[in-house]
Amino acid sequence: MKEGSRSLNFIEHIIEDDLKSGYSREQLRFRFPPEPNGYLHIGHASSICLNFGLGLRYQAPVNLRFDDTNPTKEEQEYVDAIKRDVEWLGFEWAEERYASDYFQQLYDWAVALIRNGKAYVDSQTSEVIASQKGTPTEPGTDSPHRNRSVSENLDLFERMKNGEFPEGAHVLRARIDMASPNMLMRDPVMYRILHKAHHRTNTDWCIYPMYDWTHGESDYIEQISHSLCTLEFQPHRELYDWFLDQVVAENRLRPKQREFARRNLSHTVVSKRKLLQLVQEGHVEGWDDPRMPTISGLRRRGCTPAAIRNFAETIGIAKRENVVDVSLLEFHMREDLNKIAPRVMGVLDPVRLVITNYPEGETEWLEAENNPEDPQSGSRELPFAKVLYIEREDFREEANRKFFRLKLGGEVRLKNAYIIKAETVTKDADGTITEIQCTYDPRSRSGSGTEESLRKVKGTLHWVAADHAIPAQVRLYDRLFSDATPDQHKDKDFLDFINPDSLQVIQAWVEPGLKDANPGERFQFQRMGYFCVDRDSTPGQLVFNRTVTLRDTWAKIEQKAE
Ligand code: ATP
Ligand code: MG
Repeated sequence: MKEGSRSLNFIEHIIEDDLKSGYSREQLRFRFPPEPNGYLHIGHASSICLNFGLGLRYQAPVNLRFDDTNPTKEEQEYVDAIKRDVEWLGFEWAEERYASDYFQQLYDWAVALIRNGKAYVDSQTSEVIASQKGTPTEPGTDSPHRNRSVSENLDLFERMKNGEFPEGAHVLRARIDMASPNMLMRDPVMYRILHKAHHRTNTDWCIYPMYDWTHGESDYIEQISHSLCTLEFQPHRELYDWFLDQVVAENRLRPKQREFARRNLSHTVVSKRKLLQLVQEGHVEGWDDPRMPTISGLRRRGCTPAAIRNFAETIGIAKRENVVDVSLLEFHMREDLNKIAPRVMGVLDPVRLVITNYPEGETEWLEAENNPEDPQSGSRELPFAKVLYIEREDFREEANRKFFRLKLGGEVRLKNAYIIKAETVTKDADGTITEIQCTYDPRSRSGSGTEESLRKVKGTLHWVAADHAIPAQVRLYDRLFSDATPDQHKDKDFLDFINPDSLQVIQAWVEPGLKDANPGERFQFQRMGYFCVDRDSTPGQLVFNRTVTLRDTWAKIEQKAE
């Protein structure tokens, strides 16, 4: 699904209708509004691709706005990580904004609301306030402070701001309707006292505005035309509009909130709170652990930005929540990596193979194409010698006709090299094969043009030359959770479904040209999958992460289980 070739999604229909009914294109403006209380995850990627995608489609500015109104959970580290991730995904924001930049404006507007009788200071505890909220079918009870005089409210609110009261002593509430069928309209809290330093405003403030009071007004300040959020905010829309009614000036654009469904990914959790728990309790190594569904985890694993963008584009946006199978994301990883990843030889589970009729001590340098999908990628030389490693699973003493790999008496081609025939094996006391003895046909070298080189044999194996290969640590990742929807079981905690085998560390042998591979570089280990150099890698000790296998092995396992 290429940009432009698909039909419009429902948000784009809304915008098209607005353009027809009087909005000008110049008025279109969007924002992506993360709270800097954790790292971005694959669910956020949907929202990023939606908002920045609209920006590209309509050539409209898109702001990156940090929704930083809760100093107890927010940190500069998260701000930095979010910026890095959005950039890495390939998007450019028009302006970097912070809700905290608007604290003074929000305060001034709150004072104006008090003056107009639209807000009051309540001095009850949060428990009492909650108990007076009523139920969806019964109206709430008025606070005894609901009819405080304007001057008393102004005085208390100012003293709240000046830090005269402890946390919890007072809140500022909007004075709307304690009988509204929408519970959110029953005099919602606008400010609470928090004696906490903020990562940007430090100790300038000790009252902090609530989400509902902040979000729409921030949209208004930035003149965002379409404020897109996830479905759980649908009931908040009425309040969003009420708050805007209090401040919108006649000649200025009034933002619209519209909702789309949250995206969930199978076999993982996409909630910053739960991801934070995984990090804090040590179930993973950190926010960028390659098993995490965070953008930084996916990046470290070797996933490409294009794979994430294409995935987001394919699933599109919806009006109803659902769970997208992680194999679709893996499909997009393979599709993109197939195009860009250089092919290399890496043997993950080696068994020694000796070519008995190959000259002792000789090394031949054989030409190998870097990427058949990319003619520009050129070729490299691979050392070939008498002693090699091949993948243990690629050899069997006996096998039926469907085993297109090496068996005793059978032939295979060694990729970019020769046709070999397995003759005998050596085993240790336990019966484990320690060496395979083969013969080769010297005339069969790939690319040599001889009749023998063109001879077709069933099966081609990857290999490395034992004396030239370099050792590498390889981290094989599996799904972090064994259940498709770990956080959607009523009677169980999502942690109960952690897959104990989600990480396996092995020692592999790779071709010598990989010696200087840099962290972040991605490769296809031929026949084995896509791998990325981890940030732990050093020239003396290479470390690779398996990004994804070449084929979807889980699909097979799940089919068998059916
Ligand atoms: P979480 O529950 O993980 O903390 P959040 O909604 O609280 O998510 P925010 O930082 O507030 O996280 O989200 C920034 C934007 O990303 C919001 O517009 C939010 O609606 C959107 N978003 C968050 N999670 C998803 C998701 N799973 N799918 C689509 N959009 C999402
Ligand atoms: Mg949030």
